[in-house]
Amino acid sequence: MTKIKLGLGGVGKIARDQHLPVLAASSTFELVAVASRNATVPGIPCYRDMSEMLSSHPEIEAVTLCTPPGPRELDARIALGRGVHVLLEKPPAASLGAALELAAFSGRAVVSMSWHSRHAPAVESAREWLRGRDVREVMIDWREDIRVWHPGQDWILDAGGMGVFDPGINALSILTDLLPEPMVLESSQLGVPEGRQAPLKAELVLRTQRDVPIRASFDFLQTGAQTWTIRFVARDSEFTLTNGGAGFRTNGIDQSVRSSRHHEYEGVYKRFANCIRSGTSDCDLRPLQIVADAFMLGRHEALPAFTF
Ligand code: NAP
Repeated sequence: MTKIKLGLGGVGKIARDQHLPVLAASSTFELVAVASRNATVPGIPCYRDMSEMLSSHPEIEAVTLCTPPGPRELDARIALGRGVHVLLEKPPAASLGAALELAAFSGRAVVSMSWHSRHAPAVESAREWLRGRDVREVMIDWREDIRVWHPGQDWILDAGGMGVFDPGINALSILTDLLPEPMVLESSQLGVPEGRQAPLKAELVLRTQRDVPIRASFDFLQTGAQTWTIRFVARDSEFTLTNGGAGFRTNGIDQSVRSSRHHEYEGVYKRFANCIRSGTSDCDLRPLQIVADAFMLGRHEALPAFTF
């Protein structure tokens, strides 16, 4: 089978940590060129922007966008306008309106919103455990060190950068995948550092249509051990996704993950390839909608100034 010729926009941390290695090993996609204002990738033709890359490589059929969510929308529109399929890193855009506009694109190219955490190995175990169980409560704890995972990324604390929702939306993407019933944000408290535009901390209260309470605690200042857990409590047992979905516990006991999934980003590209082959876009905006509501309803608490 011929490989799908792909260009990549925005060579930063996630492009280097995940996309480039997965693409190098892919039997489905072939990385043809990259577009980044400053960064380059040895052995791959590099361009300063999306238009230049696509004009120089008319054979490119699809692009992955790994820039921050703000500048990503313009690149997506440039690619879609040329009939090039688009894979959007999460969060898919800096605003709900921009994401809706991309989701509504009706040309011949498809849009895939990646939500990589949904491909974590223990998510399927959680889905199995939840089948037939009556969940009574959900608690999310997503606490990580911004200086470790986003070193020097000032954009993340700027308007549209989403702050602690940048990692927190991963938890919300798993939650909305596992609990498909509608859920509504009831309140949100945002801790925003002086001189910045996006929160370092957030506390959310949600409920599902059946009145199941959900609490989410997001913290970008956690040093030492990092916490990425989602705990589902049923009448007689509980299930906790640990380590961002890489592991799980039932009733407090660590379990081993039996899964054919090896790598989140292999799952992301498999899904993108399916979208391209079937001509169907994959645009689930529910995680972004919760974040948008959290900003809309958020009560602000001032935090001390933050420097990387
Ligand atoms: P990053 O290291 O800052 O990389 C993004 C790259 O985009 C930059 O290096 C920059 O390269 C380019 N860029 C283009 N326009 C930019 C602008 N206006 N401001 C800043 N950079 C710009 O960020 P990242 O961690 O890779 O995150 C990128 C996206 O991936 C985010 O949406 C994030 O949520 C998602 N993601 C990140 C992680 C993670 O662990 N970091 C994990 C999963 C998903 P040039 O200077 O060469 O243009």
